[in-house]
Amino acid sequence: MQVWSLASGSAGNAFLLRADDTLVLVDCGLPLRALTERLAQLGLHPRQLSAVLVTHEHTDHLGGVPGLLKRHPVPLYATGGTLAAAAGRLPPRATCHQVVAGQPFQIGAFTVRPFAVPHDAAEPVAYHLSTARARACIVTDLGHVPERILPYLRETELLVLEFNHDAEQLARGPYHPQLKRRIASPLGHLSNHDAAHCLMAAISHNQDAVWLAHLSEVNNSQRTARAAALAAVRAAGRPSVPVQVADRRALSLHWDLDAPRQLRLF
Ligand SMILES: [Zn+2]
Ligand SMILES: [Zn+2]
Repeated sequence: MQVWSLASGSAGNAFLLRADDTLVLVDCGLPLRALTERLAQLGLHPRQLSAVLVTHEHTDHLGGVPGLLKRHPVPLYATGGTLAAAAGRLPPRATCHQVVAGQPFQIGAFTVRPFAVPHDAAEPVAYHLSTARARACIVTDLGHVPERILPYLRETELLVLEFNHDAEQLARGPYHPQLKRRIASPLGHLSNHDAAHCLMAAISHNQDAVWLAHLSEVNNSQRTARAAALAAVRAAGRPSVPVQVADRRALSLHWDLDAPRQLRLF
């Protein structure tokens, strides 16, 4: 399994996963042109996509889907609530598959497990994807971490977790009080503190890499988020797990389970 971060943040999200000939996009918040450019950097084309999985209807996750589906007949997977909320924006002949939280399904080489997350959207989910050899979980856009989702996070070699904002920066920052309340609410986004707490609970002997995702441009910095995550992996007794930050606007991180492992001496 290989995973790439094509973009991660409120300006647009997209993760690409590949196993054998199966190519899956998780969220598509990028306009078709930007998506096409980033796939081209990997020698790929949108028409090769086996599926696009959408977590919820917010524009930074779904905004690029109508443009993609108008040009390429890629099957769309999302919950009934997300599909209903997005209905007006999707081309009439789009192939839509309804997913149900807690019910796994297959896309080519991937087993996909959607699970519900607390966020202010119609029916938001996050996705756990596995092959016979590797497992990845992408968890962004959640206001808090219910205990019930931790098993999905633990059973992974690659864990992608939202580190949205620093609570103090958000409180001091320029956002309207109403927006601040929305972001900090239990249906908003994860603070560095809450994400680090989650990471401490979710880290197991399995993880090979941790990616920090959906960082706020205004209320966070890569350095602050990374420091919080590194403290968490140290406290959890896994200081050697690589922690990387997904770039907001560019193709940034790549994880390849089949690549030679870095030798860990300590
Ligand atoms: Zn988002
Ligand atoms: Zn959202």
